[in-house]
Amino acid sequence: MTTTNSTEQADRSALYASIFSTEEIYRPPSEKGSALLEVARGCSWAKCTFCDFIKDLYQISDMDQIEYRLKTLRQLQPDACRMFFLGQNAFCLSTEHLLAVMKRAKYYIPSLSAFSMYARIDDVLRKTPEELSLLWENGLRDLHIGIESGNDTVLNMVNKGCTAFDIRDGLSRLDKASIGYYLTIIPGLGGKAYSDLHAIDTARLLNLTHPKQIWALALKLWPDTPLAQQADRGEFQPMKPWEILLEERILLQNLTLRNTFYMDTTVLGKYTIQGRLPDQKTAMLQAIEQLLAL
Ligand code: SF4
Repeated sequence: MTTTNSTEQADRSALYASIFSTEEIYRPPSEKGSALLEVARGCSWAKCTFCDFIKDLYQISDMDQIEYRLKTLRQLQPDACRMFFLGQNAFCLSTEHLLAVMKRAKYYIPSLSAFSMYARIDDVLRKTPEELSLLWENGLRDLHIGIESGNDTVLNMVNKGCTAFDIRDGLSRLDKASIGYYLTIIPGLGGKAYSDLHAIDTARLLNLTHPKQIWALALKLWPDTPLAQQADRGEFQPMKPWEILLEERILLQNLTLRNTFYMDTTVLGKYTIQGRLPDQKTAMLQAIEQLLAL
């Protein structure tokens, strides 16, 4: 009996692995329960100086691959309600293509009622208000967007390819289309030189938006990235973990969001601070004070 179960489990695992082109699968923590459909690989921009994904080849899956993956997902997760499209900025795909994939996904798994994916802000800005509404009508519910900073100098320095104005504009278009968004920011991204400005301007920008969640991920210098090379040459001064925590305190102090979940899973490299804004802002700031006192 045990042998049969383990064989079945191994078969399911092999089947599951067959629908991904790489072993490493990147999806946000909040998409844990979602069916994962690879629609693209890598990032179409691939120029941010801090990003480890810039080395990956950018590829769009063809419809034959998508059909196979959907048929397989139907076997593995026949009752899935939510589907996450894999790809570092899957939202760069044309509206027509995204709608076609959503339609096929609902054909194979009729219980699906919500779709989500990673996006860059320029992917949002390239779509018309009518396209965004159409995508919402067909089930697009959330986008996961790394805005990283609200400070234009920092955004320019890391070659993000957008400004704070673009970010505000793109998120406001999503608000109008009722498409939700989860944002990622990077404490420490401005280095020592821009720490305060990065914190204050990021809070200022976030206060003009309506994210479901903010995920703060302290800067990690990935080997061989342009930013790591700049740090090696002394052109970028990385911050120590406790300095990043001081920066995060400024950010949190300045946030006035009314209904957003905030989390940082990278505090001092080993702690998590999380809570709903505004109710748990004081508790999160107290936790930071306690950590700083250690
Ligand atoms: S847009 Fe995102 S995935 Fe693409 S290079 Fe920049 S940080 Fe990396």
